[in-house]
Amino acid sequence: MKHIAIVGGGPAGALCGERLASHGFDVTIYDERLAWEKPCGGGLTHKAIEAYPFLLDSPAPKKIVRTAELISGGGHRARFEMSRPIVIYARKVLNGLLLDRAVAAGCAVVCSRVTRVDTDGASVRLMVGGEERISDFVVLAAGARNQLLPGTTALGAMDLEVTLGYFVPTEEDIIKVKFLKQFEGYLWSFPRADHLSVGICAKMGQNPTHKLRGHLDDFVHEEKIPMKGAQFYSHMLPSPQAQTIRGRRIAGRNWAMAGDAAACVDPITGEGLYYALRSGDLLAQALIEEQPQAYPERLRSAFSADLEFAANIARKIFRGNFLGGAITTRMVQLLNYSPAFRDLIRDVFSGSQDYRSLKRRLWNQLGITFVEFTRSFLDPRAVIAPASRQVPREPLS
Ligand SMILES: Cc1cc2nc3c(=O)[nH]c(=O)nc-3n(C[C@H](O)[C@H](O)[C@H](O)COP(=O)(O)OP(=O)(O)OC[C@H]3O[C@@H](n4cnc5c(N)ncnc54)[C@H](O)[C@@H]3O)c2cc1C
Repeated sequence: MKHIAIVGGGPAGALCGERLASHGFDVTIYDERLAWEKPCGGGLTHKAIEAYPFLLDSPAPKKIVRTAELISGGGHRARFEMSRPIVIYARKVLNGLLLDRAVAAGCAVVCSRVTRVDTDGASVRLMVGGEERISDFVVLAAGARNQLLPGTTALGAMDLEVTLGYFVPTEEDIIKVKFLKQFEGYLWSFPRADHLSVGICAKMGQNPTHKLRGHLDDFVHEEKIPMKGAQFYSHMLPSPQAQTIRGRRIAGRNWAMAGDAAACVDPITGEGLYYALRSGDLLAQALIEEQPQAYPERLRSAFSADLEFAANIARKIFRGNFLGGAITTRMVQLLNYSPAFRDLIRDVFSGSQDYRSLKRRLWNQLGITFVEFTRSFLDPRAVIAPASRQVPREPLS
């Protein structure tokens, strides 16, 4: 296997191409737009920075954010310092950085749309801008709207989220996340180097667009975000169900999927950049070792078993109740009143707390959380320190 065609030059395709080309493969990346401002928050958690330190080290403009604020459906707020910051890129910048690295490693990059992929014969045949191209293997990394599906099924409405938002030309230093009552999704405001990405995500088909837009506009108003020059966007995001993560075919004899196309997205937070990079990386590694058939299993042990667990609890987190109130509201309240719970949320934000061990950790620290909460709740002066001032800062990498 010598020539690899990659459809999609986003994070999954570009990183996969870079890895393959640096191991001597002849790689062509096809992308209809190349580096573009894909609607996205652009937030990279610490686990992505740890795995791919060039994302922090590169001189490309980015925003390093250390403070986050969670807001409940009832308006409770909890602001806290993250021990490990989130790095936020404009997507045009991030995609450009990854594609430049792919080209430097030896990939050919073609700005063209792939309209058909035929994997039935001995070689893969691709239709690119009206011409046929031949390759030994095809990596499908064309995102959530990917229509090229050899031997597998498209993601259905139950596996997708709708997102709407604005790019706002203003400066901010805090990440904000707001939950809504009985709503599977959330609102966010993510500061970038020279603008904000503000948006809302929700399960497809559960809310009409005008309702989502109404929530978004209320949020913008409540947070006093100046909207002069704001640009509207909307896009789809995979939010896979557990059975889709477990059962959907993502690889065949001469093809494999990575990133959003393979539904590698956290169904609770919508984080997809880390999983796109990691899946592209794992696929490249399997091809380098001449074991493409090992890719789905490696993906499963790296993260998709954890994402499957997350898919099973997503609905409960957004719609469930605890001690007579919404789980999301209790979460915001506990953040204010329990240092132990705050540490846990910090680890969730940095990506160092996986979902499968979350339940055990919550259970183990239930006693201390309850004591801290009760003590602080009954006597607000007993709160050990404001949430934003207690955390020892760790170095970035
Ligand atoms: C509004 C929104 C906010 C988000 N916020 C975050 C966040 O803050 N943090 C985070 O981690 N994740 C976030 N995500 C998820 C993240 O954007 C995706 O998971 C990530 O971009 C997936 O990368 P990818 O390479 O798989 O696909 P994409 O980034 O979608 O790249 C696919 C590429 O394929 C190209 N393409 C598609 N079809 C064809 C074709 N037929 N021929 C040629 N080229 C084609 C496209 O031009 C595109 O460049 C967000 C998503 C959305 C929608």
